[in-house]
Amino acid sequence: MRKLTTPDKILTYEDMFRVDYVSFVRGLAAKKSMHVPAQDGVVSGDAIDAYVNHGRWVVECPDCTGASFVSEIELRFWCLSCGNASVNFAWRSVRMPKDREQIEAVLMFRPAARADRATTRNWTTDETVKDLEKENIDHGVVVDS
Ligand SMILES: [Zn+2]
Repeated sequence: MRKLTTPDKILTYEDMFRVDYVSFVRGLAAKKSMHVPAQDGVVSGDAIDAYVNHGRWVVECPDCTGASFVSEIELRFWCLSCGNASVNFAWRSVRMPKDREQIEAVLMFRPAARADRATTRNWTTDETVKDLEKENIDHGVVVDS
């Protein structure tokens, strides 16, 4: 179930939904008549790097176009498009960047209509915090001092 209010921050799965991520995935997979992860704890393959898209921490499936909010509690991903079939339906682990706090701090200076509609708040794994700060300056983002 969706939460009624959205905090003004870079959002994760837990900011958006009340039900825990594993129950959400298992429930939706069952509803879509998909093979569900047989053992919740088993993780296979390389970790997938999280990135920020429109103010949300997301992870993208390495096998298809599926994507999902990052669960910062679980830090694992099960694709609701392909079911992680290439790793025998196991979960994949998710890696957050080491400088997550700095990334979020710089992005939060950017204006947004709402935290979950923050088209200006984006970060990809090839960008540094300095890159984000330069973008803020280039776009005239007002930074509190
Ligand atoms: Zn997929």
